[in-house]
Amino acid sequence: MRYIEPHAHMVSRVTDDYAAMAMAGCQAVCEPAFWAGFDRGSAEGFRDYFSLLTEHEPKRAANFLLPHFCWLCINPKESEDLKLADEVLAIIPEFIDRPNVLGIGEIGLNKNSRNEIIVLEKHVDLAARFNQLILVHTPHLEDKLKGTRLIIDLLKNESRIEPGRVLIDHVEEHTAPLVLEAGFWAGITLYPQSKCTPPRAIDMVERFGAERLWLNCACDWGKSDPLAVPKTALEMRTRGHSEEKIDFLVYRNPCRFLGQSPVFKLS
Ligand SMILES: [Zn+2]
Repeated sequence: MRYIEPHAHMVSRVTDDYAAMAMAGCQAVCEPAFWAGFDRGSAEGFRDYFSLLTEHEPKRAANFLLPHFCWLCINPKESEDLKLADEVLAIIPEFIDRPNVLGIGEIGLNKNSRNEIIVLEKHVDLAARFNQLILVHTPHLEDKLKGTRLIIDLLKNESRIEPGRVLIDHVEEHTAPLVLEAGFWAGITLYPQSKCTPPRAIDMVERFGAERLWLNCACDWGKSDPLAVPKTALEMRTRGHSEEKIDFLVYRNPCRFLGQSPVFKLS
C-alpha cells in the first residue's frame, strides 16, 4: 500500500514515527505550520520554526527516504496579537521560495474572533500575491460550523483565489457538504479521541464521495496517531472497498491537490 500523509506535525514526533510511517507505505509527509503548544515569545521564534520546517525536518525525513514538504503561516491561536502577526507575515516571503514549501497554512480560525479574521485575510492576500496553495484549519467543536461559514465567505469574496487550490481541513459531517459544494477540497482528520475515527471517516467518504477529499492524521504533541491514515485504509479494505478506490483516496487525491504546487515532486 502507498499513501501520502498530508498533515503531520513531525517537529513534535520522535524518529521512530518516521520509521513506522515509511514502513506502512508513506511516500511523502507534509507539515503545516501550527501552534507549538505554547505561545512563542517573538517573531524571531517563528523565524527559527520556519528554518526548522524548511531545513532540519526534511533532513530527518530523508533518513527514511521520505520527501518532506511544509506550509508556512502564523497559526490562528497566536493571531490574536496583531503586531506579532504582522511581524511574522513579513518574514514568510523570505522562506516562500524554499524547495519544500507548498503554500500558506494552516491558516484559519480558532475562536472566530475579529483579530483572527483580520490575520486570515492578510494570509489569503499573501497567498494570492505569491500564487500559493492554501491549507485552512477550521475551529473545533461548537465553533466549527460558524467558523467554516466565515472562512468560505471570506475566500469566496477574494476573486484571486481559486477554490480548487484551497483545502479546508478538519471537516465533519455537518461542514463537509458546505466545503465541497463551494468547490474547495476537504480534509478529514483522524484522531484517536477528538475529531474523527476511521469508521466515521469512511462513512463520510461513502456519503460525500472521494472526489475532493483526503485523509490526514494531524499528529502533533498531543494524543494522536501517525499511522491513522493506513489504519483507515485497512478499515476501507475490511468494508470491501477496492484497492483502486483506497489508492485514489489516500495517494492519488493528495498528489492531485498538492501537485498544483510546482515543488510537490515525488522522485
Ligand atoms: Zn495541524
